[in-house]
Amino acid sequence: MDKLLETLLETRRLTEEQWRELLARRDSLDRAELFDLARAERQRWFGNRVYIRGLIEWTNVCKNNCYYCGLRRDNHRVRRYRLTKEQILACCEAGYRWGFRTFVLQGGEDPGLSPEAVAETVAAITARYPDCAVTLSLGEWEETVYRLWYEAGARRYLLRHETADEGHYRRLHPPELSLRHRMDCLYTLKNLGYQVGAGFMVGSPGQTDETLAKDFCLLQELQPEMVGIGPFLPQHDTPFGREKPGTLEDTLVFLALIRLTLPPVLLPATTALATLDPRGRSLGMEAGANVVMPNLSPPSVRESYALYDGKAATGAEAAEHLADLRAQLAGLEIAIDRGDAPTKQP
Ligand code: SAM
Ligand code: SF4
Repeated sequence: MDKLLETLLETRRLTEEQWRELLARRDSLDRAELFDLARAERQRWFGNRVYIRGLIEWTNVCKNNCYYCGLRRDNHRVRRYRLTKEQILACCEAGYRWGFRTFVLQGGEDPGLSPEAVAETVAAITARYPDCAVTLSLGEWEETVYRLWYEAGARRYLLRHETADEGHYRRLHPPELSLRHRMDCLYTLKNLGYQVGAGFMVGSPGQTDETLAKDFCLLQELQPEMVGIGPFLPQHDTPFGREKPGTLEDTLVFLALIRLTLPPVLLPATTALATLDPRGRSLGMEAGANVVMPNLSPPSVRESYALYDGKAATGAEAAEHLADLRAQLAGLEIAIDRGDAPTKQP
């Protein structure tokens, strides 16, 4: 076995230099062996269970201008929408019937969505579905706001760090956004008691082995309960509209390496991966992923939540077609429970 992989398995960490070295020769790693190791780790913590999360795309209005994202404020070609509390509760009702016990409420940083309105919706969901978890993914806010949402019942927060390298962060974002503030938010969330999800796009413009090594070091330090990674995919109305997408191979190798670094992590095979390749979902599972997040948003708005071109929205991506999803998870079973991050090995 690769010496550095052996070290990773023994200690669950590498130095930045070791990460750089391992990442630089990732194309010559024995992938079958790597994926076997990742699946064995997943099996140890989760058995055959895969977790489903119902993704509700709350609003596509955003005050930010990230260069990669189709929801950025300067993209005037998107039809903007914001779901009402009643629409969200209707999504949850359908999702609950289909077996979802986690609802992920995601959206742009929408100045028209007040913190109080978010809290009210979270409280309504947790009152109606006490056996369900509410995850939020609404970007960067003040500590007081995160606390308000925690008190309303939210227990998980997804906030990808995007890149742990200052210079790369600058390449992906306009000057008013900073890596420092993003990281402060992640630690604030953790201190408030949230289970947090960090992560990054694979193959985003300017990503190198050096920036990736920092991403892996950051994950070792932060020890997030969830990690979201998926390929960068260009959106034609953004400044990165002509950039190359991330690759399937890299995404799969990184999924496996994350499973080996953080064995009990909740790790989705993302929609972006399924968009990049129709086998993406199953291959992600084979590389150690254990979460899928089908779309529970009202079908009428799904097209408008256009982060990138060609976003998969049908078949196994759609919450109403869980049978399609089951067929792609050969050998694994969908768990009908909240699926919290495990604290100790079963
Ligand atoms: N606004 C919140 C935020 O930025 O954290 C949540 C919504 S945002 C659309 C969710 C994630 O979508 C981002 O963290 C980013 O990694 C991903 N994303 C945005 N544009 C993308 C693209 N072109 N390709 C792949 N992923 C993208
Ligand atoms: Fe807004 Fe999030 Fe898209 Fe950035 S990634 S433009 S914060 S929705």
